[in-house]
Amino acid sequence: MGRSSKDKRDIYYRLAKEEGWRARSAFKLLQLDEEFNLFKGVRRAVDLCAAPGSWSQVLSRKLRASNESCEEVKIVAVDLQAMAPLPGVTQIQGDITKVSTAQEIIRHFEGQAADLVVCDGAPDVTGLHDVDEYIQAQLLLAALNITTHVLKPGGNFVAKIFRGKDVTLLYSQLKIFFSMVTCAKPRSSRNSSIEAFVVCQNYSPPDGYIPNMSNPLLDHSYDVDFNQLEGPNRIIVPFLACGDLSAFDSDRTYPLQLDSNKEYKYLPPTQPPIQPPYQQACHLRKNNLLAKEDLPSALLGLGALNLGT
Ligand code: SAM
Repeated sequence: MGRSSKDKRDIYYRLAKEEGWRARSAFKLLQLDEEFNLFKGVRRAVDLCAAPGSWSQVLSRKLRASNESCEEVKIVAVDLQAMAPLPGVTQIQGDITKVSTAQEIIRHFEGQAADLVVCDGAPDVTGLHDVDEYIQAQLLLAALNITTHVLKPGGNFVAKIFRGKDVTLLYSQLKIFFSMVTCAKPRSSRNSSIEAFVVCQNYSPPDGYIPNMSNPLLDHSYDVDFNQLEGPNRIIVPFLACGDLSAFDSDRTYPLQLDSNKEYKYLPPTQPPIQPPYQQACHLRKNNLLAKEDLPSALLGLGALNLGT
């Protein structure tokens, strides 16, 4: 596959590089904002599952541009993986399902509440749909738990969701905490993907609710076959396609020269991955060391490597 073939197949991948975003997902948050005006009046935001950081970039650019004093803007970004720094963004490398991570986020706000929490969390997809949906739901609930600790009443929460068969249970749980829950599909999210985003507006927890990090989906006595949600417990949330309908279609292939007056020029990614998990494999392959008997000694040189690819 040539270097430009992904540019050709994926218009948002190419646009991300042209506009300096670290990942094409930036457009998903931008298009959600177009529809829901998410950034209005926001000074403190949390970006959960943030690496490589394109949502944090969007938050940093938008919030710092709309607030007179950049000092007042506080963005906390959390991910398992390390992320290259961004202006105005404090990073926490941690697991969002852990209480210690929630505590660290809360500490950063020094008693103040966040106006917005976003989460684009996704597990490493296995291809086994039930497993992928289950893990994704765990991430969403972990994000919701953290949100109940840090979000101000009236604040908003946006999170990636897989529209699998148990999605109604998730909607029901979100509806307990937010007066408005919408399932939104930005133009930049491929139709072929079950991914969508829940936009939860106006945080209003039940009276007397005390935030905790327990996770109802880890309750082994819950069984979706028996515990079917019915009557008022069954929540149907509005579904909204968002982003200008004249925007690029993420499932279409576009010509390499969108503007016929300009010549196509390949651009490298804005932020190459730091410490990617495949770094070791790349090193072994580049040096023709795969499946060699002297593997352990070959690995010794890895510590000094800095593959900026
Ligand atoms: N929004 C990001 C952006 O725009 O650059 C992309 C996020 S990427 C789709 C999903 C991220 O979720 C990965 O970086 C992964 O490390 C992170 N993640 C998955 N499970 C996590 C967990 N338990 N705690 C923290 N981060 C997690």
